[in-house]
Amino acid sequence: MEKQELQKKNAEFIRKIKERDPLYFNKLKEGQKPEFLVLSCSDSRVSPSIITEMPLGYMFVHRNIANQVAVEDESFSASLYYALKYLEVKEIIVKGHTDCGGIKAAWSDNDDEELQTWLSKIRKDLPQKDVSKDMTIDELTKINVLKQVDNLKKHPIFKTYGKGVGVRGCLFHVESGELESLV
Ligand SMILES: [Zn+2]
Repeated sequence: MEKQELQKKNAEFIRKIKERDPLYFNKLKEGQKPEFLVLSCSDSRVSPSIITEMPLGYMFVHRNIANQVAVEDESFSASLYYALKYLEVKEIIVKGHTDCGGIKAAWSDNDDEELQTWLSKIRKDLPQKDVSKDMTIDELTKINVLKQVDNLKKHPIFKTYGKGVGVRGCLFHVESGELESLV
């Protein structure tokens, strides 16, 4: 897709919204009060607001490969802090998906130097390969979501600012479009 095509699509997006509500962007400019913080994989097929038909302003989204929660990840920590302290989100959703390339790469002993720091985070939370060699990628993906939910609940920022905030783990099925609730 060319740059011009993106601009054409954007103009179309504006036109459709203004047709329904001419003041839409004036209201959008007033600020955000999203109900959810979503931690999602970066995969291009799993955009959280598209799969749930959520309009702009409803989801504060942080994305990384294989939806990881790591205390040493400053970018996620900043998103978490901002979402809890300033946006006062009501719920946090950790959303993995089937056919996850991040889980596949971690499991297949990918050795690209540029990916190793990140893949080591993913590997740390997967079962030991020798005891679970028959597991499918989708089973591992579920384990990963549950583990990241656990990591989130133990995150110092969540422990300080997350009182009363719900945490949910979900798995998006790319083969059917279903959003499965895991916990
Ligand atoms: Zn993924």
